[in-house]
Amino acid sequence: MENFAQYADWAYLVGAILFIVTLRGLSGPKTAIMGNRYGMFGMALAILTTFFLAPSPALGLIIGAMALGAVIGIKRARSVPMTQMPETVAMMHSLVGLAAVLIAIAAVFNPHAHHDSLHRFELFVGCFVGAVTFTASVIAWGKLSAKLGAKPLKGVWVKPVQATLFLAMVGFGVHYFMTESIESFLIMTAIALVFGYFWIAPIGGGDMPVVVSLLNSLSGWAAAGIGFTLNNSMLIIAGSLVGSSGAILSYIMCNAMNRSLLNVLFGGFGTAAAAAGGDGDGKEKNYKSGSAEDAAFMMANADSVVIVPGYGLAQARAQNAVKELATVLKEQGVTVRYAIHPVAGRMPGHMNVLLAEADVPYEDVCEMDEINSDFASTDVVLVIGANDVVNPAAKDDPSSPIYGMPILEAHRARTVMIIKRSMATGYAGLDNDLFYLDKSMMVFGDAKKVLEEMVKGVTGGGH
Ligand code: NDP
Repeated sequence: MENFAQYADWAYLVGAILFIVTLRGLSGPKTAIMGNRYGMFGMALAILTTFFLAPSPALGLIIGAMALGAVIGIKRARSVPMTQMPETVAMMHSLVGLAAVLIAIAAVFNPHAHHDSLHRFELFVGCFVGAVTFTASVIAWGKLSAKLGAKPLKGVWVKPVQATLFLAMVGFGVHYFMTESIESFLIMTAIALVFGYFWIAPIGGGDMPVVVSLLNSLSGWAAAGIGFTLNNSMLIIAGSLVGSSGAILSYIMCNAMNRSLLNVLFGGFGTAAAAAGGDGDGKEKNYKSGSAEDAAFMMANADSVVIVPGYGLAQARAQNAVKELATVLKEQGVTVRYAIHPVAGRMPGHMNVLLAEADVPYEDVCEMDEINSDFASTDVVLVIGANDVVNPAAKDDPSSPIYGMPILEAHRARTVMIIKRSMATGYAGLDNDLFYLDKSMMVFGDAKKVLEEMVKGVTGGGH
């Protein structure tokens, strides 16, 4: 084993390079599958290397834990629907946080270990980041899976409580750092667990995507912290990669919403709820509705159609049906493209994944910045189960909670058709003026069913 140890750093280096190549691959749909494979090789190499490095009494435990983890992981991966991915990711972050806490506590209680000041600092920071990540991720999971209310915790007392807990947590951590007091370490950990709750509970449902991405980042830093504790370079590198990529993603998502990270974390967005079908003054607003056949006729006779998919597409599992509609429209000579908003659906990249699953050609899929200027010259926009990402209030209504968030400017097209089941609001709980425009038409029903009817309508008529 000792001979092996000198090769371990080389194996870890190769693993780290594979992880970096993975991130590179994951940055585009064409290279994503290959990227994923590099990640699997890197992880297998890291696990095998660690396996040979571990002292033999622990091997049985490691094998047992790995087998148990693999069984649970494979079962969950096979059964989780795409719509439940964000909460699953939040749950996984909580486990990374918990692992960081348990390893730090084990290290603090290890009677043979001598903790110099650097080591105490790593333990203190790694443990509190892990503990905050753990509780915050559990709350995010609860909110996303609707097991806990999505409503934010409100009150003038919230911010003072957050500040007091934060200062107390850091205070006890510093006391541990100065005196090696195990009691202070444990009190700091307990406060960090409570702080995680008070940190996330006041954040509204609409901001959960950024929070999940930030927790992703924190779980990475917590893992890097464990890496220092265990003197394991692989964990330090992998944790830093996760930490920085999560931080960059949070930054990109905040930009996509035109908000600062501090505003997301302490601003209380996502709290407003407007009644569907009303304009806020209690007056009923009028909207037009039509059948799938009417909509199919209009699309088949258009020159250009842009499809805007949203959460409802995922919910209805309608990705194959939409691909089929696009195919039959193209056969009729219509130009069809897809417009993707960065936070459409319930996780970053949600729509890209669904469309890739249905083998939609990548060149037909356009990002928001690419396509926004084309809406004005588009004949028909077909909005499928999207709501917040096409809400013009984000552009026109300074009093709206989503004011300033960039949207897909579907309202500028000549005709807009919206498939959804009712006039209900979307994730942010806001009514949408797009539905009441003269040029808009609602097509009510489950997205998959409506799309299948549209396919029949197009193949039965057209140019
Ligand atoms: P929205 O949640 O705004 O709207 C989705 C719409 O889909 C609803 O209004 C609903 O209306 C309709 N719908 C639901 N099921 C079906 C179905 N089976 N068939 C047809 N329609 C259906 O979704 P968007 O994609 O527009 O916006 C995403 C929102 O989610 C944003 O607010 C974003 O911040 C948030 N979010 C994003 C995450 C991400 O990372 N992408 C993660 C978490 C949240 P009806 O009930 O009437 O059918």
